[in-house]
Formats: sequence, structure tokens, C-alpha cells
Amino acid sequence: MIIVMCPNSTEEHLRKVEQKIERAGLSYHLSKGESRTIVGVIGDKKVIAELEMNSLEGVEKTVRITEKYKLVSREFQPEDTVVDVRGVKIGGGHLAVMAGPCAVESMEQLREAAAAVKKGGAQFLRGGAFKPRTSPYDFQGLAEEGLQMLQQVGQEYDLRVVTEIVDVNDVDMISQYADVLQVGARNMQNFRLLQAVGRSKRPVLLKRGLSATISEWLNAAEYIVSAGNENVILCERGIRTYETFTRNTLDLSAVAAVKELSHLPVVVDPSHGTGRWQMVRPMARAAIAAGADGLMIEVHPHPEVALSDGDQSLTPQHFELVMHEVKNIARAMERA
Ligand code: PEP
Ligand code: MN
Repeated sequence: MIIVMCPNSTEEHLRKVEQKIERAGLSYHLSKGESRTIVGVIGDKKVIAELEMNSLEGVEKTVRITEKYKLVSREFQPEDTVVDVRGVKIGGGHLAVMAGPCAVESMEQLREAAAAVKKGGAQFLRGGAFKPRTSPYDFQGLAEEGLQMLQQVGQEYDLRVVTEIVDVNDVDMISQYADVLQVGARNMQNFRLLQAVGRSKRPVLLKRGLSATISEWLNAAEYIVSAGNENVILCERGIRTYETFTRNTLDLSAVAAVKELSHLPVVVDPSHGTGRWQMVRPMARAAIAAGADGLMIEVHPHPEVALSDGDQSLTPQHFELVMHEVKNIARAMERA
């Protein structure tokens, strides 16, 4: 349930509302906007159903939420969430770009990629050290050694580091090296992992599952936020359909849907979303035009020898071109 306070309600009115919620054994989340305070009630459904709040002074109305997710919903918090990653903002009109190789392979490869990422004007270096590969015989990543490289190169180029976490026990270890913990598509409904990253304060990039509905995706985000971590960034990376020309079908309508349903920032990954480097550029442009808060793009200095996802990786030259175009589109939409 959401309680909308009157514009002229006082602190005393709010205190009474909070006390009544607490007395019922429920908890709440406050969202103080410019003109309105909204109180989101959390807890046992049956108890909430019996809670009568309309008669309290200062209460304008109460709204029952039909969706299961609450904390991440736009009804709960009308203002956009802006995630701050050591001074770099994601959401609220900023253009955030995360780019780099699918997998960290060597210092040389990572440095070349990072130089291109920086030159293009992106703020985040991405790279996988723990790779969830479809085949057990494919390159699995350099593990902690790869994280050390990411941290080192991130520092050299003043880029924030984004990397994937696949194991619930790795939160502290990966947090020593990375600024953003990426939960991959294959783990979107790994609820233990969601709770584990939720207990951390480190920003989380939550990719949409291979065949997840928008509701399932937002419920996955709810797991993280309800465990205590509000710093969630959603990432649309394409979904499984009957189409085989592309690796996945990039669902750009999900950007508009998420903007309507949730206050969380959303970025788009046209690399995994299409699987074809030729399509990354037009889809990156379209994503920003659709209102995405940023992009995740795979960039490799030599895609033809990449140990993973070479077919969808951009060369440094192509990446620069994409960045030039998306910055112009963001500017045309009066976004930074
Ligand atoms: C990745 O970012 O390299 C990755 C494995 O992505 P996804 O989880 O979207 O497949
Ligand atoms: Mn990849």
C-alpha cells in the first residue's frame, strides 16, 4: 500500500502515520518529493489489507499496489533514482556508458580496450573475469587475476569498473576490485545471489534474464532493494524469441515500460542484444533515443581473435563513431 500525504501535511501528521504502521507490525519506506511525501507500506499482505489509513489527518489518499514489487515501483517513488558510482551518475538525465571486452584476456588487451573506452568518452570499463559460458570447454575467465587487471587498468585510465559476479560467496572479494557488480542474464533469478548483492552497498547492474518478463525482472530488482541495496541499474540485453538471425531480440520497448513502471535507471546492451557488431551502432542510437540512461557495449582491440563474443564486439574505431553519435542524440534530447 502507498499512502500519499497532503501537500500541506505536517511532520506531526507523518509521525502519526509512521506510528500506526509500526504498531501493526509493518515497516515503511519514505519518499519525500518536492510537493508530496509518499509512504510505502511493506510487510504481511493480510495485515496491510486491514490497515485503515484514510481517516488519519494529513493523509490525502491510499493506493493499493497490485504488482508484487513495491520498492522499485514508480508508484512508490515517483522521482528517478540516480545511482552514484564514485562520482559518476547513472540515471536522472546523465548518459552513462560501460564498455570493454566480454572477457578480460591479458593486460595488453585490456589496456588497448580501456584506451578506446576512455577516448570515446565512456566512464566505465566492463570486462568479465568469471564467465558464465554455455559450454564448459569455452574460456571461463581469469578469475581473481582478471579482477586485479581490471582494477589496475581502471585506475590507469580513470574508469569505474563493472564486472560479473556468479557466486554468492564472492561479493566481498569482487568488491575489493570492482565498482559495480553485474548480475548476468543467466543469474537474474538466482535469488540467493540477488540477496547477497542486496546486502552489499555496491551498485548492482541487473541484466534481464534470457526469457524474463518485465515483471519478473522488476521482481528480481525488488529482491536486491528489499535486502537493503537501493543502487540498482537495470540492463536490457535482449530476450529469446523465434528469430535466429540475431542472437537475441533486443526489446527496446522494455526501456519505455521500465520507465513507466519503475524509478530505477535502465541501460541497454546492444552487443548481447543483437550478437552482431554491425547492429550495435544503430541499436545504440535507438536505445538512447528511446530514453535509456546509458549503454553497455563490448569493445575489443582485435575482435577476430577475442576469446569470447568477438562477433558482437566493436573495434576501437567503430566504438568512437558510436559514441560520437549517441552523444549527439543525448544532446538533441537535452540530456548530458
Ligand atoms: C556479458 O555481459 O558478457 C554477459 C555474459 O552478458 P549476459 O549476462 O547479458 O549474457
Ligand atoms: Mn559477452
